[in-house]
Amino acid sequence: MLQLSPNDYQKIIEHGLSGKPLEICGLLVGHKNGEDSQVLEVHAVDSKDLSEKTYNMDALKYMKIDADVQKRGLQIVGIYHTHPATEPYPSPTDMERAHWEGSDEAIFPGYSYLIVSLRDPAHPEPRSFKLVGKRRPEDVQEELVRIGDVSGENL
Ligand SMILES: [Zn+2]
Repeated sequence: MLQLSPNDYQKIIEHGLSGKPLEICGLLVGHKNGEDSQVLEVHAVDSKDLSEKTYNMDALKYMKIDADVQKRGLQIVGIYHTHPATEPYPSPTDMERAHWEGSDEAIFPGYSYLIVSLRDPAHPEPRSFKLVGKRRPEDVQEELVRIGDVSGENL
């Protein structure tokens, strides 16, 4: 389960709507407990693709945020990105780029990949996945997204 506050969810939506028609991306930061993640912060990160169909997170910005959150006792628990015009389901490129080239080894093991579709801007559709390999749909494991109070007591 991926748990995030209405406030952080709203930040992702606003980032996504302002970026349309391009995809945008960012990091989900918080705590992990087994398979469950609790998001306490979201960080927008530039996408180097400037594309309507793919995103490509700036690696140096990723590293800077990673170092900063670790200093504060938090960790990156996942990546969010938008699908401006299509369903909230990992694309073949999403599957490819979540793994090292030529292998099924995850670049970020255990990360949640939150995809928010903005095909209907008035009704954003969030879905989250763990990507355990490159094949669709076998390696796509959906997880529950819970948008609500993040108290920390449930994990
Ligand atoms: Zn995608």
